[in-house]
Amino acid sequence: METQQVDLECQPTSPTLTTASAPFNKSTDLVLRSSDMVDFHVWTVMLKEASPMFDAMLSIPQPVADPEHDVPVVHVTEDSKTLRGILELCYPMAPSIIQEKNIDVVLHIIEAALKYSMEWPVALVEQSLKELAGDQPLRVYAIAQRHRMPELAQFAAHASLRYSFPGEYCPELEDITGGAYYRLVKYHENCARAVGAVMQETAWMGRRNQYTWFSCQNVKCGPPPNGRYILEGYIPKAWFAVWMDGVLADLRKRPCKETASTTNIETVSMNLGCPNCKAKAHIDLTKFRVLLAEEVEKQLAKASTRFLNYFVAYAHQVFDQIELEFR
Ligand SMILES: [Zn+2]
Repeated sequence: METQQVDLECQPTSPTLTTASAPFNKSTDLVLRSSDMVDFHVWTVMLKEASPMFDAMLSIPQPVADPEHDVPVVHVTEDSKTLRGILELCYPMAPSIIQEKNIDVVLHIIEAALKYSMEWPVALVEQSLKELAGDQPLRVYAIAQRHRMPELAQFAAHASLRYSFPGEYCPELEDITGGAYYRLVKYHENCARAVGAVMQETAWMGRRNQYTWFSCQNVKCGPPPNGRYILEGYIPKAWFAVWMDGVLADLRKRPCKETASTTNIETVSMNLGCPNCKAKAHIDLTKFRVLLAEEVEKQLAKASTRFLNYFVAYAHQVFDQIELEFR
């Protein structure tokens, strides 16, 4: 039964007047009629509590009670799916938006919640958008920019690091300024530079001689021709330098913890010619990869904090506090 009612609500041009499913189908003191003609029976006190705009709207004399309902009927511009979304956020119930996987639905609900000045429901919607940022970070970034949501913008920017930049086009980009997009480009550049320099300060790596590429004594297992990755006198083996070149190139493209922690160590370990290194490489690279991923995350956290500071300053319009680099 419930499913049938929900389906009816989803038809945007339904000419027939229908009633929303529970809990918006009981006798109350107000009816909100959606643009697709679905009646939601609601308590004014709930709406007033959640929305200053509803509070103001409902504090003025209401239209004469509708003869069919015995209570006033207020027409709203939202369709039933969006209206249900924001009403669920006002009622003491588990809002379905938390499980919503369709970013368009979430977007409509957030726009409506913002329109009605619903502050704490917006925080809940923000949580839903964070869940969706993993798959569509650029889109969520643009939404956050448009609605001045600094933490969400920073979260989405961070999530976007898992994809090669700039990624796929999304229509929401048309709603943000060139400045907002420029700062995302700068953020990617900064993060790529920070993780690209991860082999310059290497205390995170621990003792050098615990790794076979520094400790192997096989004279046939030589160093790289141009002497790169020499750390405090420890000269690495050529195979490690080649592998590390590839890891850093990947990290510059996708500067995130996941790139470090999923980097391929199997191929290099299996194909080593040096028996000493072949015996230990996989174990040592596994250990190294964990520490590398932790260091990458640490470097990104620093870059992200600076980026978030910019967003907070931008959201509060205190432009002189924005670091020059991001202006
Ligand atoms: Zn070796």
